Amino acid sequence: MALMLYPGRLHQFTKEHMDAVAAIFCGLLLFLGWIALHLGFLGWALLLLPAAYIIGGYESAREGFTTLVKERELDVDLLMIVAALGAAGLGLWRKEYYLIIDGAVLILIFAISGALEGYAMQRTERSIRSLMSLTQDTARVVRQGREEIVLINQLQLGDEIIVKPGELIPTDAIILEGYSSLNQAAITGESLPVERKVGEEVFAGTLNGYGALKLKLHQPPESSLIQRVIRLVKQAQTEAPPSQEFIEQFERRYAQVIVVVGIFLAILPPFIWNWEWETTIYRALTFLVVASPCALMAAIMPTLLSGIANGAKQGILFKNGAQLERVGKVRAIAFDKTGTLTTGQVEVCQVIASSEYTQADVLKAAAALESRSEHPIGKAIVQAASDLEYKSAVEVQAIPGQGIVGLVKQQQVIVGNAEFVQQYVTNLSVKLQDAAHTLQQEGKTVVWVARGEEDKDIVSLSTSFNIVGLVALADKIRPEAAKAIAHLRKLGVEQIVMLTGDNQQTANSVAQAIGIDQVYAELLPEDKLRVIRHLQKEYETVAMVGDGINDAPALAQASVGIAMGKAGSDVALETADIVLMADKLEKIAVAMGLGKRAQVIVKQNIVIALSFIVLLLVGNFLGNVNLPLGVVGHEGSTVLVTLSGLRLLK
Ligand code: ADP
Ligand code: MG
Repeated sequence: MALMLYPGRLHQFTKEHMDAVAAIFCGLLLFLGWIALHLGFLGWALLLLPAAYIIGGYESAREGFTTLVKERELDVDLLMIVAALGAAGLGLWRKEYYLIIDGAVLILIFAISGALEGYAMQRTERSIRSLMSLTQDTARVVRQGREEIVLINQLQLGDEIIVKPGELIPTDAIILEGYSSLNQAAITGESLPVERKVGEEVFAGTLNGYGALKLKLHQPPESSLIQRVIRLVKQAQTEAPPSQEFIEQFERRYAQVIVVVGIFLAILPPFIWNWEWETTIYRALTFLVVASPCALMAAIMPTLLSGIANGAKQGILFKNGAQLERVGKVRAIAFDKTGTLTTGQVEVCQVIASSEYTQADVLKAAAALESRSEHPIGKAIVQAASDLEYKSAVEVQAIPGQGIVGLVKQQQVIVGNAEFVQQYVTNLSVKLQDAAHTLQQEGKTVVWVARGEEDKDIVSLSTSFNIVGLVALADKIRPEAAKAIAHLRKLGVEQIVMLTGDNQQTANSVAQAIGIDQVYAELLPEDKLRVIRHLQKEYETVAMVGDGINDAPALAQASVGIAMGKAGSDVALETADIVLMADKLEKIAVAMGLGKRAQVIVKQNIVIALSFIVLLLVGNFLGNVNLPLGVVGHEGSTVLVTLSGLRLLK
């Protein structure tokens, strides 16, 4: 399954294995060649050692030449090959055959570190790919009293799905009959199984425990959490992260500098310091080896990749490595309210009609529009109107962060927050306003419903409107919200704010309950963006956590955009840099912790890498470093920092 989704991966998967096998064979041939040389079988040595060169160096040479020919750039791979061949040439010429061994050692260690890097990469991909393997092609469905196996993409809403104990849940659905414990580790990163009973939601890709379940499909399979995440990962993998591009750029420039300096070092010293030609060439070659920035390169990517893999295991999806580093530096966080700090499982708790209307009128008018809406408020209103008869509106337009407009039986209807709706109304009664006020102080979200006075066939909002009534909705604050915020403070976040399109009073009531520093309410999408910019002036690295379409501009502007994977709209998921797969706010602190550790490890690695390079360069210049020592120091430091990066897997 995973391979079907990833036609390009099979090739890469085998390539990593090939690299490891090539490194092993290279080592073997080198060892045999070394023995042969020591025992005096020169002919054998001259057969075995070049074979080691070819097997160990083939991949690097190929990559190096491709870069040279296609992009007219020098890269480190090619430098290594040149240095190794140079050493071999010098060895043959001076009949100092140990130099051929030196070159082979260089190639071997290079091959090993290449394979190790591939391994780190593969670990990451594997943990992301394991997600894909949790998706299933078919589900067992009961139709007309008979069980059938149906392809997932041919399931219909309302289908009843049977899942036996020990099977994977095929798609997100609601439990209709039965109860069970489910292992949701793959989705939420939580290792303990959770109990689920009738009426609760189960997720595709989670493992059913002891109970047989009958499920009811309540949303299209393609919008299941895991499918959305897979789409995201695919998209993320087609774009090279900027950090990687930067590193590759840097590598090329650096390689060019080294070649130029290397050429000077190979030519000038005999004239300046009266060095012998052979010493000069030898030192120039050693210079090529030790100055190559392999360890510097390996200081960053394997570390970040390990961190990404670790995050994926815990339900945190980083879209690239740069984000992992950045999230560790966050000093201020902005949270959206509805769907982010609250569960977004909104319920209608009160409907109040204007004097000339009934409660049913209010709900019917609102539901006619909201049946076209993806917004949690919309879903709640449609749910509350499920016993009433109404026709869906036409020409419906959602206005993110404000409301929704449309035509019902040639009459314009608007539903939305007070500020938005009240600009168009004439008959605002004090009684309704007082009622709204009281509800908002209780932390409820109040949505106003108004109807146009004239018949229209387009939505223009030019007429004046009459208030039909208002709908009060209650949303639960996520149980972990207060704790998650306290934890973030402990990690050194200086400012935590709330950005919401909802009313100020409602927002204050939620903010107080969970310990938010500052509330910005009644915001339009572009206002959210503006607040983020403002925060960035003061705190530099600012994270935004959100779920809605109205959060997308702010998510894009923030240094780190974090989207709720389950509650989130597709736009938010696409815009964000990090996705919390199970909407768990406490994972933000986990992500920050990972980011901080990544920073520390990267810094340590860079220090290690630079000290080795400087030490070896100085040693080489003073004549204390021969090629094997240079190779061991250089490649050893590369392997060291690579392994150090893998610490972040734990
Ligand atoms: P946030 O997620 O920023 O807290 P929302 O996306 O809930 O804000 O939008 C802010 C406000 O806009 C809501 O509280 C509501 O009053 C109004 N609103 C937005 N979309 C709708 C909709 N589809 N139906 C009714 N009201 C809406
Ligand atoms: Mg929201």
